Parts: sequence; structure tokens; C-alpha cells
Amino acid sequence: MATIIPIKDVRATASAAERDAFVRAAANAPAASAPLADRRGRSLHDLRISVTDRCNFRCVYCMPKDVYGRDFPFLPHADLLTFEEIERVARAFVAQGVRKVRLTGGEPLLRRHLERLVGMLASLGDIDLTLTTNGALLARKARALRDAGLARVTVSLDALDDATFRAMNDVDFPVQRVLDGIAAAEDAGFAPIKINCVVKRGLNEHAIVPLAAHFRGRGHIVRFIEYMDVGHTNGWRLDHVVPASQIVAAIDRAFPLEPIDANYPGEVAKRWRYRDNGNEIGVIASVTQAFCGECTRARLSTDGKVYTCLFADSGFDLRALLRSGHSDAQIANAIAAIWRQRADRYSEIRSAETQRASRVEMSYIGG
Ligand code: SAM
Ligand code: SF4
Ligand code: SF4
Repeated sequence: MATIIPIKDVRATASAAERDAFVRAAANAPAASAPLADRRGRSLHDLRISVTDRCNFRCVYCMPKDVYGRDFPFLPHADLLTFEEIERVARAFVAQGVRKVRLTGGEPLLRRHLERLVGMLASLGDIDLTLTTNGALLARKARALRDAGLARVTVSLDALDDATFRAMNDVDFPVQRVLDGIAAAEDAGFAPIKINCVVKRGLNEHAIVPLAAHFRGRGHIVRFIEYMDVGHTNGWRLDHVVPASQIVAAIDRAFPLEPIDANYPGEVAKRWRYRDNGNEIGVIASVTQAFCGECTRARLSTDGKVYTCLFADSGFDLRALLRSGHSDAQIANAIAAIWRQRADRYSEIRSAETQRASRVEMSYIGG
């Protein structure tokens, strides 16, 4: 039987030293035989890996320029997990049941030779390997990523009109280059492509219907995401959120929609189909319709910490295990113990009080 350390020892109140002790003890405890589930009965199915905390955009809802300026202390290179370390951790997660791995960041295509990591992860076997990118470098990289074994790609795109897009990425990046990246991904054989659009009131509500219109005939799936209060730097306010119900209603008025079933239990996006052509959109209502009850995602930060919630204040350091001679089985043991103590449900209990709590930034832990 594995030692299960009481939750109060490792929850938000625990110090970094207490968490490190928890991880070390868990690595050295015998493996538990019971099926892996967290304290709310949720299994471990998805892993999001942040391969860099850096980005070439400064999206106003994610890495606002006034915070992420020239002097921002991004992680030094030595702190990043190497590709070999990422592969070891991913293999341990797969051994614990993960079947879906998403590479993210920061901007993952800024990590040099990312296709080499893709090749290493693709050879782990029966996993759905995907990547989320802002698309800026996709025209150059799509073919190599596909050839290396990337199964699917998601491109973030918040508006089709150039002025709104430039205002949202805040580095004056032209929308046409992202559209060129999407075209290159199509040519490389990625289909369908998912397009992520974060909707922020007052910024890009007017972009919702044109985005839907542009992609609905092409078979790509636009997923509209409610603006979230991740991190502490984006100045989030509830009245900046455009509820998913309003997003669906706006599209439905232009192109009638009907709801369709989830592809699998725990799918984050609610799916809708155009009545006339059968293509679909998704809405991710993380604020107005929390889905914590079905959340099966773990996140691995750029420097090797495991976070069990997007809104967690701290993670569990696996890099220390990797760099101190622990075996793959010990790392898998630690992952299981981290998952077993998980009780997160931030979006279900979001309040003025919880919003004041400390949280890590999305670019570091991976969106
Ligand atoms: N740089 C890549 C990109 O933008 O696609 C990958 C990382 S980004 C953090 C992952 C996803 O998180 C993107 O689709 C982005 O739009 C979304 N995102 C970032 N900040 C958000 C926020 N405050 N609320 C909702 N989604 C957000
Ligand atoms: Fe960069 Fe993606 Fe965040 Fe935009 S959403 S700042 S592209 S990490
Ligand atoms: Fe999962 Fe945390 Fe988001 Fe809830 S708030 S859905 S537990 S990541």
C-alpha cells in the first residue's frame, strides 16, 4: 500500500519544502494497486506540457506587455526540462493512464527543434499527441511537425480583421501570417484543425460571427473560449466575460446550430453543429458552466513541476527527482501520489475570495 499523506499536508497551505518531502516520500513508497483516481473520483487522462514560458506575442488576456516587458525574469535555460527529461516524465504519465498529451507554453514553436521532442513523444505509443500554437511560426514548422508524428494541431486566432488581431496580440503581428500557418498545416495533412478564440468583452465580440463564417465551410472547428481569470496579471473582471450562451446565440442567429454529444466523457468543449452543413463549433464555458467534476488534466510546467489545476498556486517538483537518480518507476509512483491527493475544483467555487488567492500564470504552466 502506498503511503497517502493527509491532504492538509500538501494542499495550498503547504510550503515548498513540505511538497518536496511529499514527492520524495511518494517516489520511495511501494506502488498502490488500486485504480488511479483523485479525491473526487476523477481519473488521469490528459497531460499538458509547457515547453517554454516565453512567447513572441503579448496577448492582452495572457501576457500583458506592462508585466511581461524587456526585464521580465523568464526561466534561465538550465531550469527548463530537457527533451529527454520531458520524455521520461511523459512516459511515467502514460504508465499512469494518460492517453492525451498536448504541447503548449508560452509559445511552443519558440522551443528550438521541437519536432525532435514530438518524435520522441510520438514513439511512446498509444497517445493522442497534439500542440497548441499562436500560429506565428507554423508556416515554417507544420511539415516537420507532421513528419515527426504530431497527430493534431490547435491554432489560436482571436479575430480575422487585422486591426483587432494586432490589438489583441499587442505586438502588431499581422493576421495573414497566422492564416498562412493554418494553410500550411492543412497542406501538411492536419485535418480538422481546431481554432481557439478567446472572447473578451469590448475587444473582439464582433469577431465571433466572421470567424465562424470563415471556417465553417472548411471543416475546421472554431472553439470559442470564455475569458478566464488565470494568473494575476491580466486584470480579469467578470463583466469582461462573454458567456458561452451569448456566443452560441450570436452564431445561431447567423447560421442555425444544434447541440451534439461529447466525443468522450470529460470533453471540455461543448459541441454544436451547423444544421445546414454538419460542420461544428465548440464553446469552452469555464466560467459560466464549470466542468471541474470531469477534469482529468494534469499540467507539467516548463521547469518540471506538476500542477493539478490551472488555478493552482504551486506545483510538485519532479525535476528534483529526475536530476537525483530516481528511476522511471519512482517517478510514476510520485505522479500517482500527486494525483491521489488532488481535490481541485476552482471554477466551481470561484468567488471574490478565491480570486485574491495566489495563482501561477498560464504561460508558465501551459494553457
Ligand atoms: N501560445 C500558444 C497559443 O496561444 O496558442 C499556446 C499557449 S496559450 C496559453 C494556450 C491557450 O490559452 C490559447 O488558446 C490562449 O488563447 C488561451 N488563453 C490564454 N489566456 C487565456 C485566458 N485568460 N482565458 C482563456 N483562455 C486563455
Ligand atoms: Fe503567447 Fe499564447 Fe499567451 Fe498569446 S495566449 S501571449 S500567444 S502564450
Ligand atoms: Fe480542472 Fe481546475 Fe479548471 Fe476545475 S478549475 S476544470 S479542476 S483546471
